[in-house]
Amino acid sequence: MNPPLAPWAVDPARSRGRRHPEPPDPDRSEHQRDRERVVHSTAFRRLMYKTQVFVNHEGDLFRTRLTHSIEVAQLSRFAARTLRLNEDLAEAIALAHDLGHTPFGHAGQDALHECMAAHGGFEHNLQSLRVVDGLEQRYPGFDGLNLSFETREGILKHCSRRQAELIEAIEPGGVARRFIDGTSASLEAQLVDQADEIAYNAHDIDDGVRSGLLDPARLDGLSAFGPLRQEVLAEHPALAGQGRRLLLEVLRRMRTRQLRALVAHSAQGLADAAPADVDALRRLPPLATLPPALRAEAIELKRFLFDALYRHPQVAATNEAAREIVRELFTAYCSAPHEMPADFAEADDLRRAVADYIAGMTDRFASREYHRLTGRQPFPSSLQPALSPLR
Ligand code: MG
Repeated sequence: MNPPLAPWAVDPARSRGRRHPEPPDPDRSEHQRDRERVVHSTAFRRLMYKTQVFVNHEGDLFRTRLTHSIEVAQLSRFAARTLRLNEDLAEAIALAHDLGHTPFGHAGQDALHECMAAHGGFEHNLQSLRVVDGLEQRYPGFDGLNLSFETREGILKHCSRRQAELIEAIEPGGVARRFIDGTSASLEAQLVDQADEIAYNAHDIDDGVRSGLLDPARLDGLSAFGPLRQEVLAEHPALAGQGRRLLLEVLRRMRTRQLRALVAHSAQGLADAAPADVDALRRLPPLATLPPALRAEAIELKRFLFDALYRHPQVAATNEAAREIVRELFTAYCSAPHEMPADFAEADDLRRAVADYIAGMTDRFASREYHRLTGRQPFPSSLQPALSPLR
């Protein structure tokens, strides 16, 4: 028997509902249904072949958007359960949070945003909402997955004022409202946002070291990492010669420490503010936050990852090749829409349809299309890395 939900949790029995009303399910809460719709979606399966940091062909053991999303769901569920929140909702948001990502990670998104600059731009959070609100087409009565307000609210993590006003015009008082009136999302959504960061800070170190691009010796100077490494070595001196097992144990402790601190700090904030219900909580500034000392450590870690990994010359070269693919695909489909499936080719807004089509692609499908339409190799041979040993 689960403990009762906290007063500020999202109560599934009091959901604000779906855009197309549906009768309740006798066996599942609204947010359980949302989670299951996400897991059955095509966009979810595509995450398996979408880049997190390393492009799919660079190795079989790097995180993909799918394994990243599952890690985020796991951390989110722990946090939600510990705080007596709606665990199903947190899981649904986490599994859906990256559905709008383009192939090739942020490089793909940046290129698509440039292509769309004069036509409304491209942003992956908004795209995630477009996926669940319309682009997935599998139910007889509506386009999209017709998710509940609370799941959609969590998916729309960021939004510009201009975009928020456009959404608000179509859906008054809906998921974009909070970006206009400065209110917050549910605590479940806030926790997923934090869990996302905790997950990628840890797994990008793991993948960075595995790739050989990140020198593990450089990690010791980080306040989130160095002291934990000393702690592990003091407890397990035999790990000194075992780089990989030592690294994984330090990363495990780092993730756990951040997650537990997030939960404890959020619990303290909730006890102090004592919101009467979720709507009172939405009127407060975000309460799911790391304590200041750990926040500072996380910022230091993020900066380090930017300098040492995300801007590493080899990653930058791969990203440039990926941007080239996206730009060329965009140009090719705009000038020859019939190269796309009919429902995209015949859309009223061709450029948006091209962006939707490209955004939905996996890394390897985009690479194949690039080769088909331009005759060129998608990634020069200098960017075909020697695969690291399977560990
Ligand atoms: Mg993410």
